[in-house]
Amino acid sequence: MQYNQLGATGLLVSRLCFGTLTIGPLQRSFSVPDGAKLIRAALELGVNFIDTAEIYECYPYIREALAGFHGDVVIATKTYAYSRAGMEQSIAKCLKELNREYVDIMLLHEQESVHTIKGHWEAVEGMVRAREKGLIRAIGISTHYVAGVRAAASIPELDVIHPIINKFGVGIQDGQTEDMLQAISFSAMMGKGLYGMKCLGGGHLIPQAEEALGFILSVPELAAVAVGMQSLEEIKYNVLRFSGVEPGPGLSEKLSKNRRVLHIEKWCRGCGRCVEKCTAGALEIVEGAVKVDMQRCRLCGYCASVCPEFCIKVI
Ligand code: SF4
Ligand code: SF4
Repeated sequence: MQYNQLGATGLLVSRLCFGTLTIGPLQRSFSVPDGAKLIRAALELGVNFIDTAEIYECYPYIREALAGFHGDVVIATKTYAYSRAGMEQSIAKCLKELNREYVDIMLLHEQESVHTIKGHWEAVEGMVRAREKGLIRAIGISTHYVAGVRAAASIPELDVIHPIINKFGVGIQDGQTEDMLQAISFSAMMGKGLYGMKCLGGGHLIPQAEEALGFILSVPELAAVAVGMQSLEEIKYNVLRFSGVEPGPGLSEKLSKNRRVLHIEKWCRGCGRCVEKCTAGALEIVEGAVKVDMQRCRLCGYCASVCPEFCIKVI
């Protein structure tokens, strides 16, 4: 496994980052022991970087995976906090539930532009203060927007940017792949640490995984790439691929059949809460029930987190 410095943070991260969204309640909903086993398997194979978020509800999986593990592990998490008090709560929750003394990386979740970052400025100040106290090692944003990457690149307080990037531009909200690559390049020049997300388009590009991974591994500014994984086979495949080893046709072919979809249960009552949550504009209420446009859906599962009827799952 290759390890890279994450910008100027001083953090050394494996090029393959374990994206936990896919194992938690918003997607496969593994039991904690089963999900923890997968993370632990990745750690044993040399992955030392884990990406999560408060909304994913995956802290229990990570805590169990780390129990008795002696290697250094870097954990990045995200919060929607916009006030200083909200940020303090997010930090405290993360430290408590992960049983750690500090948060390695705390990101403002789903930022869009300089305006949304400024709108969260109290939270940024909370992160800066926590970093000064040693409670956080690095701070930044995650974003699906080219404008978000460009904005964060020019804000000296931020260390890390976690942008969406994939060969076919799936899920980039305000531009094409080329625009995002330029913004990434600019951010690296500004000294930011970058790790990519959704290189497989949230699951859309699994049938073209070889091509999509070949592309993402050719982006030199990305210290790491978060990949959601749901099986030992996927972990082994990605560990090989990210180590520059050909996984072999059997494994590639098997995984290429694992396409993911957004499943909506018949008992949806059309309340519209998921529609408000979806920033991709992929949901609408039609005749009293929600319908998804799979061309727009990036399979993040965030809509599932607000459904009072537990109707939505990425499967
Ligand atoms: S939040 Fe749940 S119940 Fe409400 S519209 Fe969406 S899927 Fe249906
Ligand atoms: S429909 Fe749900 S899973 Fe798809 S992009 Fe919107 S919030 Fe994400």
